[in-house]
Amino acid sequence: MIKTENLTKVYNGKKAVDNLNLEIAEGDIFGFLGPNGAGKSTTILMLVGMIEPTEGKCFINDIEVARNPLKVKEIIGYLPENVGFYGNMTAEQNLDYFARFYATMDANEREKRIGELLELVQLDGVSQKVGGYSRGMTQRLGLAQALLNNPGVIFLDEPTSNLDPEGVLQIRQTLKKLSDEGKTIFFSSHILAEVAQVCKTIGIISNGTLIERGTLDEIKRKLDVRKIVKIIVETTGDMPKIEHENIINVEYKGRKAVIEAKSDIREYISMYLLENSIGIKELRIEEPTLEDVFMESVYKGKGGK
Ligand code: ADP
Ligand code: MG
Repeated sequence: MIKTENLTKVYNGKKAVDNLNLEIAEGDIFGFLGPNGAGKSTTILMLVGMIEPTEGKCFINDIEVARNPLKVKEIIGYLPENVGFYGNMTAEQNLDYFARFYATMDANEREKRIGELLELVQLDGVSQKVGGYSRGMTQRLGLAQALLNNPGVIFLDEPTSNLDPEGVLQIRQTLKKLSDEGKTIFFSSHILAEVAQVCKTIGIISNGTLIERGTLDEIKRKLDVRKIVKIIVETTGDMPKIEHENIINVEYKGRKAVIEAKSDIREYISMYLLENSIGIKELRIEEPTLEDVFMESVYKGKGGK
């Protein structure tokens, strides 16, 4: 459905997107996750045919985007990072203005379609001009605009960034509905939790390079595996050998030990050291959060380049 082959974009001698190979199946909700500047928007711009790759290709439904940008635009929807509307017009007027670009729709069809879309994004009955909209409302109208041509594939560039929790929830609900209709959704974000809530499969991009790819479950499992409790112990005397059934690994460095365990066993360690009359200089935990693990894989990706 969506495919990139060695997709690369160079800006001023620097690779914004570096040899990206990605395949997204029909009906998937794909989360494209990465920190700011990772190359998410650049990738999306190439996928929707707004900019041309420096090297490599991308395909939507086996149609090469750079060779057939107009054909691709007919079958995709795109919500840009910063969507703009005419502030002095209502939602209906704005959508009708854009819908006129689609020659296949006559006035009746446009009205019907716009009505349906405004209901979908929960903006039906809003008579206010768009200039007075909140960011959440503007994003929802942007989503409606992206859906005007009833596309099978929808690209959304950070649709939930800077939205309040209610705004995030509304976008999320609409995406779930669209996914239930069988649409393929490509959703970018720099927030792991956001992507984890919505997406079936995830790709993590850092410095233009894809560093993780899998289903949400696979990525979660990976994170769980790494979600071990790291305990740092430093003693005043010689460090004894520490044993416990929940210990996975211990690294001893003089009077310091870095313990990886399945649970927080600090209480056991302190009792054990006390019983052996060994003073404790330091005993602390380093439990990575999901966000830490994400940052760690991002860092690993950068280091690997
Ligand atoms: P993201 O969307 O993940 O935040 P971008 O794709 O916007 O990242 O940017 C990736 C890299 O490419 C960044 O280093 C950015 O500064 C650079 N970049 C993006 N667009 C341009 C441009 N039009 N000209 C020069 N550099 C750009
Ligand atoms: Mg971006």
